[in-house]
Amino acid sequence: MLAVRAKSLNIMANLNFIMPYPLNEEHCNRKDNNKVVHSWQPSGQSRAMINNNVAIECVCKHCGKREWTTVTRIEYVMLQDHWLDL
Ligand SMILES: [Zn+2]
Repeated sequence: MLAVRAKSLNIMANLNFIMPYPLNEEHCNRKDNNKVVHSWQPSGQSRAMINNNVAIECVCKHCGKREWTTVTRIEYVMLQDHWLDL
C-alpha cells in the first residue's frame, strides 16, 4: 500500500489518492454544469492519532469542501515533502 502510494506521489497534483472512496472520485457539488472531480489539497490542519497515524484535513480547491482522512506517520512525512509542490 505504501509503495503504491509513494509511486503516486510523483504523478499526482493533489491528494486524491489518500482520500477514501467515494471522496476521491466524487464530483463537486456546483451550480454550473461543469462536472469536475474534487481536487483535494492539504488545509494545513493535522492531528496526531493513536496507532502512529495522522489525521489530515483536506479541502477541495474547486468547491471548498473539507474532509478528514488518515495516513500513517511515515506517509505523512512523505506527503509533507510532496505537498510543498501543490
Ligand atoms: Zn470539490
